[in-house]
Amino acid sequence: MADLPCSWDDYAHLQAALLRGCQITDRTWGLEEALNRVLASLQDNKPLKSDEIARAVIHEIGHKVGMVTDGTGKKPDMIPTHYVDRGHVGPHCHNGLPLLDSYSGVSTGNICVMFGTITDQVAFCPDCAKAVKKMDLAAGWPPA
Ligand SMILES: [Zn+2]
Ligand SMILES: [Zn+2]
Repeated sequence: MADLPCSWDDYAHLQAALLRGCQITDRTWGLEEALNRVLASLQDNKPLKSDEIARAVIHEIGHKVGMVTDGTGKKPDMIPTHYVDRGHVGPHCHNGLPLLDSYSGVSTGNICVMFGTITDQVAFCPDCAKAVKKMDLAAGWPPA
């Protein structure tokens, strides 16, 4: 019998983490998005490695807690390295790189886990970290 790709172990681990939760939170939505990324990577025949899956979870949870916002309403101010699309899908952070017309194919040089594709970065850059700490949740979630 052939071995399953190692990504299935990571997939099962993320599913188990979701099953242990008793309510839907931003963390569970982030885990769900990470599961989708694992499946998409298998579909593309480029299975993610364990550390890539971990970075995908951090990135997706970042989106769910409002990172890289446009700064409208009560959302944190838009960070100076905010970009939308440019070869990726949705809003992301290009900290460490200049503003480019397209980041498609760029996989090094960024310093933020909120870059639009999975790289070796595992942490939020100083601007993104400051933004998430500034979130005003006094009126509940999500911020208006
Ligand atoms: Zn993203
Ligand atoms: Zn950032």
